[in-house]
Amino acid sequence: MVASPRTFRCLNCNEMINDSMTQCRYCNVTVDPVVAQLVAERQEKAIKSYREVAYLRWVVVAMYVFMGLSYIPYVPLVGWGFLVTFIIVLVLLIRWQVKFGSLVTNDADYLKARRSWRLSLVLWLAAIVLGFIVRILIYLLFALAATR
Ligand SMILES: [Zn+2]
Repeated sequence: MVASPRTFRCLNCNEMINDSMTQCRYCNVTVDPVVAQLVAERQEKAIKSYREVAYLRWVVVAMYVFMGLSYIPYVPLVGWGFLVTFIIVLVLLIRWQVKFGSLVTNDADYLKARRSWRLSLVLWLAAIVLGFIVRILIYLLFALAATR
């Protein structure tokens, strides 16, 4: 089995090394291959978690664009666009949490990804209020005004 060496941060000095080394080239600490494998895997997962949260962010942006447009009367189909992106955001939020939620690492990419995930969750919750509840209230107000 010849795999390309995976890079990760030395547990001792935090410099970038890879799992083909038996010794850290910066601090000379011995690299346990099993530990190196584990750390490298965790780091790869952290990078992936960051990449996936980037998709989530774009869908959140699209959701808000659709929602904003749906408040302008007579723009067709944007209401559906909002509904579809609203559901996709929910699916991506759950998927990210299932795949990466239990990851224990202080990797900077992962911490950034986690913050982005939380912000996306807050924005999604806000979209329930702004996209559905406020809209229903507006319709009710118009309906009330119309009956007068
Ligand atoms: Zn080191």
